[in-house]
Order: sequence, then C-alpha cells, then structure tokens
Amino acid sequence: MHDISEDLEAKGWQDFANCLGVDPDLFFPERGASTREAKEVCKGCVVRDDCLEYALANGEKFGIWGGLSERERRRIRRQRALSRRSTLDAEATAEGLGA
Ligand code: SF4
Repeated sequence: MHDISEDLEAKGWQDFANCLGVDPDLFFPERGASTREAKEVCKGCVVRDDCLEYALANGEKFGIWGGLSERERRRIRRQRALSRRSTLDAEATAEGLGA
C-alpha cells in the first residue's frame, strides 16, 4: 500500500481528502438532517484522523469532520478534558506524596 506520510508533508492533508469534489452541503446538513452519506464518504478517507484532529484543535462547531458530528466531537473533547484533569490530579497527588 502507498505510504502517504511523505506526500502529506509535501502537501497538506486536505489534498488527500475523500470529500474533494463532493457537495459540501452534504457535510453541513440542516439540523436534524441525515449525516449518513457524509459519514460514508469519510469512512474510506485516508486523512480521517488529520481531519478530526484539525476540527478538534480549531473548535469546529459545525459539520461533519473526520467522520464525526458536532455532538460526537464534543464528547471526545469532554473525554480528553477529563483524562487531562485526572492526569494532572494524579501528578499533584504524586508530588504531594513526595514522589
Ligand atoms: S474525514 Fe471526511 S470530511 Fe474529513 S477530509 Fe476525509 S472525507 Fe473529508
């Protein structure tokens, strides 16, 4: 299989997006409309992780990114925040114990 990591450095992840040329409206559906078609496009996308991380890093509030809806991305952000907090708590406890 073709390793795209070198190409990714030379270009940008967007150049490998499966959604290039696909109707953007599909990825920004009206509230309550189906996201199934967009998610199908994302399923086979080789830069899905890059896309998701971009959306999370930039706080994208609308649309399907990395195959996930706004609500699904919010859940990931919450989980990551909780895990960061518990790591900090564990470090503070370890420091308090003189570790
Ligand atoms: S994961 Fe989906 S929205 Fe993101 S680049 Fe790939 S096809 Fe496009």
